[in-house]
Amino acid sequence: MPKLSFTLDRFQPSPIGEVFSLATRLKAEGRDIVDLSIGEPQFDTPDHIKQAAWAAIRAGKTKYTATTGTKALKEAIQRKFRRDNGLDFPLDRIVVASGAKPLIFYALQAMLDAGDEVLIPTPCWTSYPGMVQLLNADPVFLPTAQQDGFKLRPEDLAAAVGPRTRCLMLCSPSNPTGSAYSAEEIRALGAVLAEHPDLWILSDDLYEHIVFDDFAFATMAAEVPQLAARVVTVNGVSKAYAMTGWRIGYAAGPKDLMDAIAKVMSQSVGSPPDMSQAAAVAALDGPQDFLRDWAAQYQARRDMTLAGVNAIPGLRADKPEGSFYVFPHCGALLGKTTAGGQAIDSSTDLVRHLLEDWGVALVPGAAFEADPYFRISCAASQAAIAEGLRRIAAAAEALN
Ligand code: PLP
Repeated sequence: MPKLSFTLDRFQPSPIGEVFSLATRLKAEGRDIVDLSIGEPQFDTPDHIKQAAWAAIRAGKTKYTATTGTKALKEAIQRKFRRDNGLDFPLDRIVVASGAKPLIFYALQAMLDAGDEVLIPTPCWTSYPGMVQLLNADPVFLPTAQQDGFKLRPEDLAAAVGPRTRCLMLCSPSNPTGSAYSAEEIRALGAVLAEHPDLWILSDDLYEHIVFDDFAFATMAAEVPQLAARVVTVNGVSKAYAMTGWRIGYAAGPKDLMDAIAKVMSQSVGSPPDMSQAAAVAALDGPQDFLRDWAAQYQARRDMTLAGVNAIPGLRADKPEGSFYVFPHCGALLGKTTAGGQAIDSSTDLVRHLLEDWGVALVPGAAFEADPYFRISCAASQAAIAEGLRRIAAAAEALN
């Protein structure tokens, strides 16, 4: 066989994909699987958004557009940043792509050379380290503690910056922990970043609208305007508007960086789908009041998940401020043995046992550079959450 890129040896495929494949195989074999691994809203895309896509298709919007997105969508994004974040971006500093995921990768491509370092607070979204490694740059993990709400402490950030550091990646509300930084906490990190003028800051705001208990969402570019020339703010319609399959993400930031991202895109990707862009305009410009209602529904699911998890001896989870995940510590279950004689030595062992023997799909903490934890998605239905928790409790009790 001709050789494959050596760079691929630097990272593993996303373990979430592995859980997904195993769960899919077990389902195909007729097993009853409760899926609490999925990171997507179980709401349907609202009708007014679908109608906008239909209208766009009927109007012939089925072709290439400008690589970095249509003017109409960039204008809607401009309005969104003004309305929700108090940020004012000219259209030439806004870029649209087929999802926030590729856009984060393009931004890293625009920033990094081989050997550069990227600071990633952990637990982190599973794709950040792989993207950095794919560019022959190095992730530098900054572990955060459960007792600190899984939030990066300014002193830990200050201690981590070195001569090769190029970027800090911040995700708030977080996938997988659900923790979210208050404006004050963001300003405290901003004070450290202000002392390091060679650093980019990538703010992943995808879960902006999924916040609980009146938590006020805050983002670096707005809270620390003096850093705005170094912050790229990434967002998208996937999580907020239940549009994961439409593949629209967007970013805004300083002109030089956005031009560099556009340059990367010009030679590597085509435009995002025309009709999806029209749908995203309807999402961003249309009614926003249902977002609060959805957040309230996620909050109810978070509360039932949290209560269920903390009633299981051996598990301990704190209350997330946002996103739709709960991230329990499961250290007290490690070192035990299943009824079938299998040793449970890591969260990966535990999650595999729960899937294979109890039919509940979760994601192990190792996928997020954090052990011993696992992630439960509360984006599933209440019935699925209740049944999943029942099975986890029974499995925990059956361990010896
Ligand atoms: N950022 C975070 C933290 C995510 O959890 C996800 C999706 O799971 C993404 C980005 C990517 O979103 P998109 O669907 O826009 O590619």
